[in-house]
Order: sequence, then structure tokens, then C-alpha cells
Amino acid sequence: TKKLLMIPGPTPVSRSIQDQMGRETVAFSDANFVNDFNYCLKELKKIVKSDGEIFVISGSGTLAMEMSLANVLRKGDNLLIISHGYFGDRFVDIAKNKGINVDVLSSEWGKTVPIDLIRETLKKKPYRAITVTHVDTSTGVKADIKSIGDMLKEFPEIIYIVDGVCATAGEEEYMDDMNIHILFTASQKAFGVAPGLLILWANEKALRARESIGTIGEYFVDFNNWLPIMHEPSKYFATPSVNLIWALKESIRLINEEGIENRFKRHELFARAYQKALEELGFRILAEEGYRANTLSNVLYPEGVEDELFRTSLATEGVQVAAGLGTFKGKMFRIGHMGNIDKHDLISSIASIERTLYKFNIDKLSIGLNIIQRELVK
Ligand code: PMP
Repeated sequence: TKKLLMIPGPTPVSRSIQDQMGRETVAFSDANFVNDFNYCLKELKKIVKSDGEIFVISGSGTLAMEMSLANVLRKGDNLLIISHGYFGDRFVDIAKNKGINVDVLSSEWGKTVPIDLIRETLKKKPYRAITVTHVDTSTGVKADIKSIGDMLKEFPEIIYIVDGVCATAGEEEYMDDMNIHILFTASQKAFGVAPGLLILWANEKALRARESIGTIGEYFVDFNNWLPIMHEPSKYFATPSVNLIWALKESIRLINEEGIENRFKRHELFARAYQKALEELGFRILAEEGYRANTLSNVLYPEGVEDELFRTSLATEGVQVAAGLGTFKGKMFRIGHMGNIDKHDLISSIASIERTLYKFNIDKLSIGLNIIQRELVK
């Protein structure tokens, strides 16, 4: 059986993207490669409507998290972290290691931190920055990053950092319109490229913050070391991932062919259809309505379905999903529906879930399919 990769990252890598990774590697100073790299940098700014700087660097999302803090905060600075789950909490660990003063506003898993509470907290001390995880992959909760950005206009000193790892290129995200100062993602999520690249956008305000803090302890993620390369990719600071950058270029070509707005709409349509079908099959979606991500679903089991057995049986039926994290380990599975997937993937994964439930004596054959088919033709 074919095994559909439906974990929330890495997501399925399309054939044409895979082909780029199989090409013969060239020197990073190769004129054609430099052209390709430049194309990526230019197009990536358009995708999130940013007129600031962009960095495409080897590494994963966690390194991007580190980069976002390291370039604007000093030891002893105040940072407010909005946490909707495991990946929000990861910022706390990174910041504490750097000696940054951390305050955290956490929601119950599945819920969100109210904006009024964020505003009131920001009034209490001079914060230098705030982090928000657009989609927390552990809960499937989507933060209202636009409303938070609007509210932050009342605090012009604060740097607004958005973790878009499980969102960018799948959820609506426009840097300038949303008043975001640093945004980042990684290649293996909604871009549908293999893991290994981080992409980080920083606007003028973030760059000024970088200038104001002088020398920093981090070397590899220092904006100042990478800016000359991002302006002229034939120069050397650290070896770029040549083949992954080609893969990213093909992913960008696919995004542009679809149109970013259409891509957002497709993710929304797929997510609503999927979540509705899963609910009809007796599962519950962890995230509260109105704050559900379009990129993945965090799905609570019905009575009588054991986690480990469900996931291994589902894999036998052709779909690989991820386990729940934290307090929901054993009570939930996580399924990605982002990036370069299509209607076939949705249909066959719902069908596989129905066959797996059947093994647990829950006969809902074709019930989810009926829902998803109707949603897809609307
Ligand atoms: N932030 C979010 C929202 C994530 O989903 C992840 C990874 N699942 C990360 C950060 C960390 O990224 P990585 O695993 O690529 O280091």
C-alpha cells in the first residue's frame, strides 16, 4: 500500500520538487544558481507582502525561533510570550537560556489567550518584544495575528515576532498589513519542501533593533553575517543548501502558479471539509471553533479507540499521522492537511480512517466520504 504522509510536517514532497533535490549539485557561486537563489528571495518577499529583508538559511524552525530572539533581544530584556501549546512554550526555553526576562500568557490547550489580556499585560512593563505562534502544531489553534498586530500599534516600541512554521503559505499572513516585524517558517511545512531550510523575514524596525544591541553571542544566526549574502548570494558566509534552494524555487513556482490567495482558500476549504467529516465519524476537534487551523487538525478519539493501535492500523491502511503531544498524548492524533496535497489525498485518507474505525467495530463506512464529497463540490 502507498503510505500517505499526513503528519504535520514534513508534508508530501511533490515529484517536481523531488526532482530538484536529485539534480547534480553545483558551486554556490555558479551563475545560474545565484540567479535561482535571487529569484527565491525576491518571490518570498512578495508571498508575505514584505518590503524588508529576507533570510534563507540551512536549519529548521527551531533555529529560526532562536534567530528571531537573538537579533532583537539582549540579556535582561523583557519578552512576552503568547503560548497556545507546546511550540509557544518552546520560546520560553530558548529565551530563558539567553537570560531574557520572560513572561508567559498561556491558554488552556485548544483555547486562545484573549487580546484584552495581552493588551493589559503589555501596559505593565516595558516589553521589548512579543512572540505569537500563528498555528500551534500541538493544539491546532490558530492565533488571530492580524488583530494582535492592530492592537500592537498602541505599543510602537515592541517588536512583533510571529512563528509561522505551521502556517506560512497555508494561512493568510501578510507582514506589512498585519504589522508583523519578524516572521519565519521552515521548508517542510506548507511549502512542501523536504526539511532543512528556514526562511525568516525581518522588517526595518527589526533591523534597527538588531543595530541597537551591538555584538551578539550567536554567530550563525546573526542578521549581520547573512545580510551581505542575501543581497548578493554569490558571496560566502556559510555554505547554502544548494539543492534545497532549488527545491524551494520549484515550490515557489507551484505557489505562484496556484496563486497565494487561491492557496489560502484551498487550505480553508480542505480544512473545513476535513474537520466536518472527522466530526461526523465521531471524533472531536481540539481547537475551539473560530480558531481552528487550516493547516492541520488535532483530533480527539471517540470512546473505545486506543491511540497506538489506531495509528498503527491507520498506517497499514495507508496513512501516516502523528501522535498527540503533552497532556493529549494518547487521547488524540494530529493530521496535517497543508502544502501540496489535493482532493485525492483528502478522499483517500478519510476512506482509510473509516476502514481503520471499522476494525474497532465502528461502522461508519462512507459516512465521512459523503460529507467530504459534498463539501468539495460546493
Ligand atoms: N514552531 C512550530 C509552530 C512548529 O510546528 C514547529 C515544528 N513542528 C517548530 C516551531 C519547530 O520546527 P522544527 O521542528 O523544524 O525545528
